[in-house]
Amino acid sequence: MPIEFEFTPDQVAFRAAVRSFAQREIGPIVAEMDEREEFPTATVRRMQSEGYFGVPVPEEFGGLGLGKVGYCILLEEMGQVDASHAAIVGAHTSLGTTPLLYYGTAEQKRRWLGPAARGESLLAFSLTEPGSGSDSGAVHTVAEAKGERFELTGTKIYVTNGREADTVVLLAANDLKLGPNGGVTAFLLDRGTPGFSVGRCEKKMGLHGTSTAELILDHVDVGPENILGEVGKGFIVAMTALDVGRVSLAAASLGGMEAALDSALEFSKNRTQFGLPISEFEAIQFKLADIGMHVHALRYLVYHAAASQDRLGNDPKAWSRLDRMNKTRESAVVKCLASEWAADAIDEALQIHGGLGYIRGTPIERAYRDARISEIFEGTNEIQRLVVSRDLIARGR
Ligand SMILES: Cc1cc2nc3c(=O)[nH]c(=O)nc-3n(C[C@H](O)[C@H](O)[C@H](O)COP(=O)(O)OP(=O)(O)OC[C@H]3O[C@@H](n4cnc5c(N)ncnc54)[C@H](O)[C@@H]3O)c2cc1C
Repeated sequence: MPIEFEFTPDQVAFRAAVRSFAQREIGPIVAEMDEREEFPTATVRRMQSEGYFGVPVPEEFGGLGLGKVGYCILLEEMGQVDASHAAIVGAHTSLGTTPLLYYGTAEQKRRWLGPAARGESLLAFSLTEPGSGSDSGAVHTVAEAKGERFELTGTKIYVTNGREADTVVLLAANDLKLGPNGGVTAFLLDRGTPGFSVGRCEKKMGLHGTSTAELILDHVDVGPENILGEVGKGFIVAMTALDVGRVSLAAASLGGMEAALDSALEFSKNRTQFGLPISEFEAIQFKLADIGMHVHALRYLVYHAAASQDRLGNDPKAWSRLDRMNKTRESAVVKCLASEWAADAIDEALQIHGGLGYIRGTPIERAYRDARISEIFEGTNEIQRLVVSRDLIARGR
């Protein structure tokens, strides 16, 4: 297990560019976006034109070619400024472009991956259904074979970017009896396909800039060109994308923790009580230390996992069984720890702000609401613990 790690000059320059972009373009609009609960179309467009929607995608397919490490840098920096923008780019990139890059045919890469990586189209990923959440292999949306075509019927829920997406990577059951072992197929579904519509959009506790949409499929006819990977092998397509998503989600959590720490440091040095800045009180100092220690540890965890995924490359056929198991365990560990550490850190940072931390519209109040979902989506933390414990029992540490 390689431990040493250094950012390349390109990655350092990329971080500086993203930081400046996020502070200049996103920072000023976040409070209003959150209050109005609006998808940030203008800043998303600007991010698309900067190439930020294709960071890990190789240049030959229209991306920036900065790998998973570059992609985590993007999400860490976005996470410092706004969790909604991080979630929008994350759903598109980890869960939309990854399956296309790993499993798409040359023609699918040309038709769907190129435009997505160049920022000309937005992607979403749709696995969850009313009856299938943690038990994600129990998909009930039916993909009925009609010769070499399929007809999709069912309802998907909780789709990030679902209202705005041009194309959705959508999982449906080609055989209800087989479930995840041969019964689930991944499809590429374009907006405007007859029978495919967006239903209700959820009101949420946080991530107010993102849409969380229901998708309705009413006898939607799709051809073989819309099948991503092989018929019956969709569950592995979804799980491989989630391995990438969980690491990038951890990078966004890291950014959220860093912003909370910065805010707590600044506030505690400037807020005076009992004649002293509150940063002079040990109770506050220990909270700052705990947040700082977790930030320090999480940086290593996130970039170790991202660099490991970069070393594996973009062809799942070239991965050994051991590669896959290591990758899945590491991404579950990182996602679970990051989301819980971030929730704790932001809670403590809010406490340091006293009453002000509870006032609607302060960045720490928004961060508190935004952070909670990371313990739930892309697999709840109970499911991450199942993944880790099963692997420990099977293989040892
Ligand atoms: C804002 C938001 C955005 C989302 N974006 C997307 C998206 O883009 N695409 C998509 O497909 N989905 C998305 N989701 C869905 C998300 O991934 C699911 O909500 C999540 O996986 C949990 O599923 P569930 O809500 O059905 O909960 P359930 O599976 O019903 O779980 C309920 C509780 O039971 C626990 N539990 C379930 N099974 C077990 C078990 N075996 N052992 C121990 N505990 C268990 C869970 O951990 C949880 O605490 C999103 C959800 C939200 C809220």
